[in-house]
Amino acid sequence: MTKTVETTLGALPVDQLGWINAHDHIIMDGGYTVVKTPDFKLDSVEKAIEEMGYWQQAGGGVVVDAQPFGAGRNVRKLIEISEKTGLPIIVPTGFQSKEHYLPDHWQYKYDEDTIAELIYAEVAEGVDLNGYESPIIARSTVKAGFIKVAGDYQVVSMHTHKHIRMAGKVHARTGVPMLVHTEHGTMAEVILDAFEAAGVPPSSVMICHIDRNYDPYLHKLLAKRGAFLQYDTPSRIKYQPEHIVVNLMRELFDAGLGGQILLGGDMARRSYWKAYGGGPGFDYLLTKFTPRLRAEGFTDAELQMIWHDNPARWLTSGR
Ligand SMILES: [Zn+2]
Repeated sequence: MTKTVETTLGALPVDQLGWINAHDHIIMDGGYTVVKTPDFKLDSVEKAIEEMGYWQQAGGGVVVDAQPFGAGRNVRKLIEISEKTGLPIIVPTGFQSKEHYLPDHWQYKYDEDTIAELIYAEVAEGVDLNGYESPIIARSTVKAGFIKVAGDYQVVSMHTHKHIRMAGKVHARTGVPMLVHTEHGTMAEVILDAFEAAGVPPSSVMICHIDRNYDPYLHKLLAKRGAFLQYDTPSRIKYQPEHIVVNLMRELFDAGLGGQILLGGDMARRSYWKAYGGGPGFDYLLTKFTPRLRAEGFTDAELQMIWHDNPARWLTSGR
């Protein structure tokens, strides 16, 4: 039986997801981050429809949106974008890194089981259209497709450990996969250990931004454990030139570990979007980076793994 994945357009068979953008940002509407740094403000449905159009014209399929409630998630807008473009979006639940919240956010006050129940309801019943920001909960029919958890630079805080334990409780009941923000690609091994202790196998965990720590030894070690490695430095030369990630991907494929690589744009700023007058735009990974991979010897089968098979396996890993 074909497995399904929860999206803004309902549960879709995994073979209908197309080429999957494993980590991106379509709407960031309000929240502390946007107030602090207006470049993060991605609030326009119209601009999102234009930008998603470039992605779709380039052959792009479903997009994993990585902005959870309390940090600018607006599911009403995501649903409207999907209905107008036909593009399915996978909606997150869980938590961003701590810079995204004021210190008095409720996640610091509620106990683990209470938060786990709130997260479970978003996965099993439907996400709250009000983003758990008001006393009124209005559940959408759209269910969260994964739980986000965030580490810090060279440390996994007690607070993150609490999030991981809570996510483990929801995973035990639902099989939902995990998306992990790492800071500069650090602490991935400790995070995988903590997830394992919480009952979540590495094969249900996608480690994000790990190419910012491009040590092949580390990447092979994580991949051998079964974790998914999400890369997003292509086009973002402020982090590193692209040949580094191309060589890293080649080395992993040559070691038989290409089945663990996923790509995302992480275009979380206005200045990255063509629709807002910036660049390189959502479609860069498909219009520029993928042709480069082909030119450097990546086969169609390898590209299909990176863009479809691997993210599809992550999304359905526990189901
Ligand atoms: Zn992101």
